[in-house]
Amino acid sequence: MDLFDKISDAVVVAGKEVSKKAKEVSDVAKLKYDIKVKESSMRDKYIELGKAYYETNKDQAQAEHFELITDITELQNQIRELKEEAMEARGAVTCPKCGAKVQPGAAFCGKCGTKVDDIFEDEEDIIAEEDEEQ
Ligand SMILES: [Zn+2]
Repeated sequence: MDLFDKISDAVVVAGKEVSKKAKEVSDVAKLKYDIKVKESSMRDKYIELGKAYYETNKDQAQAEHFELITDITELQNQIRELKEEAMEARGAVTCPKCGAKVQPGAAFCGKCGTKVDDIFEDEEDIIAEEDEEQ
């Protein structure tokens, strides 16, 4: 075996070591990713199970986890009220062209016909603004 062969053998061995390490790293990354996907999927199932449990037990005062059920019902009521509030806030929007008050959910100004559905802000924006006011 001449010097060139020895060197090229050493390079091949080193290259194999590097690609083996790279493969191990990518295997671990892939496994970690697979675990994350399964965990996320499991969380979705827990939520689904919780919703099904809530629907089955929400009217039973003696149900197990009654406090959680009551909390969820209360949160649903609060969310409904906030959504109504957001709809009312939308109703206060005026037409940018003629200044007329625009009905909630209307796509066009009732007075001048200007397309107005894009002047409404996202519900998230409305909620953020209301948070700032308080
Ligand atoms: Zn108008």
